[in-house]
Amino acid sequence: MDSTTKKLDDELSALASDPNYQATLNQLKEGAYLTNRHREIAFWNHAAEEMTGFPAVEVIGKHCFDSVLTHIDKKGRSLCKGQCPLARAMKEDKESQCDIFLHHKDGHRLPVSVRVTPLKNRTADIIGAVEIFADISPSEALQFRIRELEQMAYLDELTQLASRRFVEIEAERRVAELERYPGTLGILFIDIDKFKTTNDEHGHDTGDEILKMVAHTLLRNARPFDIYGRWGGEEFVGLIKNVNMPELKEIGERCRMLIGASYLVRDEQRISATVSIGIAMARKGETFKEALTRADEMLYESKRQGRNRVTIESTKS
Ligand code: GH3
Ligand code: MG
Ligand code: MG
Repeated sequence: MDSTTKKLDDELSALASDPNYQATLNQLKEGAYLTNRHREIAFWNHAAEEMTGFPAVEVIGKHCFDSVLTHIDKKGRSLCKGQCPLARAMKEDKESQCDIFLHHKDGHRLPVSVRVTPLKNRTADIIGAVEIFADISPSEALQFRIRELEQMAYLDELTQLASRRFVEIEAERRVAELERYPGTLGILFIDIDKFKTTNDEHGHDTGDEILKMVAHTLLRNARPFDIYGRWGGEEFVGLIKNVNMPELKEIGERCRMLIGASYLVRDEQRISATVSIGIAMARKGETFKEALTRADEMLYESKRQGRNRVTIESTKS
């Protein structure tokens, strides 16, 4: 390392360990972290710990791409190789902003809005960057919903999703609404692929962690008025209000992609899962059970076609 690089790195370290600077960043409700020019994390604020589940001691000194946040964009592309907003902000010497999905320590994907600003010393040399990220999942509505379900005893304890009974009641209510009011009800039937193998390979407890991870990815990326419930073992049902079929397909694809990009780290190994999804739109005059049967047929089709895919009625030949 030449002396100029060392000087710039030392300046960043000094800034990152300045108690006043730390106190300021710790007051933010957004997550914030500092990296040096090599994208090595030098400071991690309290909100970042809270939002990501990673305590500062586990990330300081690591590169942001070392299995920590592993940002992906809405198409599921990794931002760590090439499109990294930190690298770009430092290279181009300008602030950058984007919405991405970060990796929570519990495995699930969390949608965040990210702003990166290059950090400079007094002579305007770039010494690193600060990334500030805000949770854009419907967190408050979510907490409220979880408490509500708990009070009514309709909460699935393991996953924090609505129970099957609640999905049934809610779905029947929404189907009945379709008779009287305009609107639509889309149904996603979601089943984890080869979950028996996951249990066999990693044990039942890790299997439970995977179930929670899948459920939390669904919850964190749901719109506040949509409902995801645990239908049974490793099966989930999503009730998606007021969407057309192309939008519903997009929601299904997004769920599939985000679940596939969620992972637990055990013994330095990533453990992940994929899901197959069947999609149907409730029709006027039918019961929820009838609509769900059609979604289940589409799910079966996704399994038959090789899993890790989404099938909608019209694509079935
Ligand atoms: P497919 O891709 O065809 O869906 O294969 P699969 O192995 O997921 O399907 P199968 O229905 O044969 O097995 C489902 C497995 O899910 C079996 C069961 O051990 C596991 N499972 C169900 N509920 C739970 C749970 O609460 N915790 C854990 N760890 N495993 C569960
Ligand atoms: Mg199943
Ligand atoms: Mg399964």
